[in-house]
Formats: sequence, C-alpha cells, structure tokens
Amino acid sequence: MTAHFSHPARPALKLTEPIQVNTTEAPPSPREDFLVFGKPVIGPEEMAEVQAVLESGWLGTGPRVAAFEQSFAAYKGLDDEQAVGVNSCTAALHLALKLSGIGPGDEVITTPLTFCATVNAILHVGATPVLADVDPVTQNLDPAAVAAAITPRTAAILPVHFAGRPCDMTALVTLADRHGLEIIEDCAHAIETTYHGKPAGTFGRFAAFSFYATKNVTTGEGGMLLCRDPQDASRARTLSLHGLSRDAYTRFRQAPDGSPHFRHYQMVEPGFKYNLTDLAAALGLHQLSRVETNLERRSLVWKNYNDMLAGVPLNLPSESDSDETHARHLYTVHVGDDADRDPLLDFLLQQNIGIGVHYLSVAEHPWYQTSLGWSPDAQPQARDLGRRTLSLPLTAGLTERDLRDVVSVVKEFFDERPDLLLE
Ligand SMILES: *Cc1c(COP(=O)(O)O)cnc(C)c1O
Repeated sequence: MTAHFSHPARPALKLTEPIQVNTTEAPPSPREDFLVFGKPVIGPEEMAEVQAVLESGWLGTGPRVAAFEQSFAAYKGLDDEQAVGVNSCTAALHLALKLSGIGPGDEVITTPLTFCATVNAILHVGATPVLADVDPVTQNLDPAAVAAAITPRTAAILPVHFAGRPCDMTALVTLADRHGLEIIEDCAHAIETTYHGKPAGTFGRFAAFSFYATKNVTTGEGGMLLCRDPQDASRARTLSLHGLSRDAYTRFRQAPDGSPHFRHYQMVEPGFKYNLTDLAAALGLHQLSRVETNLERRSLVWKNYNDMLAGVPLNLPSESDSDETHARHLYTVHVGDDADRDPLLDFLLQQNIGIGVHYLSVAEHPWYQTSLGWSPDAQPQARDLGRRTLSLPLTAGLTERDLRDVVSVVKEFFDERPDLLLE
C-alpha cells in the first residue's frame, strides 16, 4: 500500500437512512486522498475465512469452492452442479465457447461496448467475432442490428448486460431459436440482474460471471460458469483443471470405509488451468451473502448521484424497466455532442477522483483494426457512446463525503467550462 492509496477512516453510510447530502456545503478542496474507483468492501468475515483457509493448509480447489458454487447456484435458482467456479470470467467465456463446439469458420455476434476479453475469448477458440451496434439508450445489443448480422456461419450470440441493465432477452432468445444459435451471456456486470423475473445467466446454454476486484462480488480474481446442462458442467469442471478426470480434492479423500486410498488421476481431454481456489472462494462466500445489501446501498448512491447531478450538463444513465432488476454495476454518464470528454477525465483524476471508461468501442483498438479490418464507424452508436462516456465511482463503500467530492469536482469542471454546455 502506498500513501497515495491509503484511506483515512470515514463514517460508513447507514443503509437504514437515506444519504442526506448537503450540496451547499463546500467540501475541502482539493481532496487529499485518492478515491479508488471500484474499491471493494471487504468485511471481517472475509478476513477470518481467508485466515481459516491459510490455517487449514488447503489453499487450492476444495470445500470452499464447492460451497461457493452451491451458494451461487442457489442464488440463481439452479442446481448445485450447474455452477462451475473458475479463475476468471474470461476463462468461463472460453470454456463456454469451447463446450459449445464453436471454432474456426464460426461467427459469434457480440457488442462493441464491452471489455476486450469478450472478443478475445471468441478469437481464442478460432472463431470470428462479429460486432452488432447497441441501442443508444440501453447501451445493450440492438436486436435489429443482431438480426442484420446473422449469416449462415453464425453459431452464437454473446450479449453483455451492460452496467447491469439486462439486454432485451425476449428478442435475443427469439432470434437464437429461429436461427438455431447458442446464447452465451457475459454476465460480468450482471450478478444481481433479472429480466422479467428471471435471473441473468439463465437464458442461454452458458453464462460467465466475473469476480474481478472491481465487480459487484469479488474474489480478487475469479469467475463462475453457469451451465444449463449438467453434462456440460461436468466437462467444464474437467477442462478447468488440465482435463483431469477428478480434481485433487476428490483424489485425496478417503475410501468409503474410511481407509486411506490413493486414486490415480487420468487426463481425459487436454484442458486448461482455470480452477478457482479456496483462498478466493473464502472471499466469495461472504461477498455473496451481502450481495443484495450491497446492491441496495449502490442503488442509494445511484439515486443520490441522479439528484445531485440534475442540472449538470451530462446525460445520466438510463433506468431499466419496472420488470427488470438493474445490478447497478457502473454509473456511466455522457458528455454532450460538442463536449470533449478527456479533459473531464483528467480533471477528475487531478482532483483525486478515480474514474473509468466503459468502454471505448472495441473497434477503436489498433489490433482489431489491423488484424480484423474493424472500424469504429461500422457501429456508430457504440462509437459515439464510447467517446463521450465516463464512469463515476459506484460501490457500497462510498461515503457521503465521497459523493459530495465527486459531484463538486464535476460541477467545478463545468462551471469553468461553460462552452461544454449541452444543447
Ligand atoms: C470484467 C469483464 C470481463 C472479464 O472478467 P475477468 O474476470 O477479469 O476475466 C469480461 N467481460 C466484461 C463485460 C467485463 O466487465
């Protein structure tokens, strides 16, 4: 820990009381400590569980991974064996594509408003990623653009529930059924998301979740693959650990009569090193038990941002429909058509406010342009959103002071730049 990132103790927001922000009281400026973007809330339960793992001597894949898989499956309304813990969402996406039998010659349709891992996983099975533009309001895949991108080679649709707002799954599932395509959901933002009462991650054959440090549930690094078919899940478990027929934990267990019993493993299919560890699952178990309370807290932060930023020349994030649950993973705002976003990013950083950009259209990245011939102009909605967006801090641990600091710095920027006013 460097001094730059150390945080003095601050009173935590109380969930039972709405945040009362006094916007007229000027906060001390500039803020002395850096507000880390996406800083997770780690409680004493996580610390104790990690210590227990260290003391147990079993750091790898074992009982805590099994318990975390069960809790996650239960949270999603699935059977125990349908959830497979892995070490990243990227690994889960790769396994999902591989288990779908997708490879060279196949096309997979996805969104340009995503992290590059979504696209790279498609490349790693040798398939061709195809981008379809997004809806400018929801920022999710536009079903009409997906329909237009379908060819005889299309094998799957890979939607991302952007920021935690569900995609139009009715339209995407209908398209997939009509054309015989798999649906693989990238649920990295969508742990708590529901659509028409159904949890995100249960619409297709596979879904991939991320427990990266900034995600709504974190294990430091980690992921979960949900499989509709338990046979897929069984093969995913094998492939996630080198392709071994049974994992090390099972191997070292005793024979039914209680006597020590050595069992040789068999390599049944060349696999990967994608297993989740008990050390990571120790965090996940307690993170997951607070998932709904943390969502409630982020919803409160979200509402306060909306209130406090009213009148500021920024487009605020869209709301999901009433029959949907928004996971409130990212609070993304957009500058107006004529405004320049990057000076605002610099200004916030200079004032010690950590921010993010989710995302520049993936077609902006040079490798995709050189190797796949992509241009951001092919998906103009994603291009424009990506060039105008920034994400403000949104975690369950934000204090009233943090919120006030963020908003006052944003306001200060626009007070000094009246030329940037929205039309
Ligand atoms: C974070 C993220 C990923 C990658 O997750 P990892 O767990 O870091 O592999 C993939 N897709 C999206 C949309 C993400 O936000």
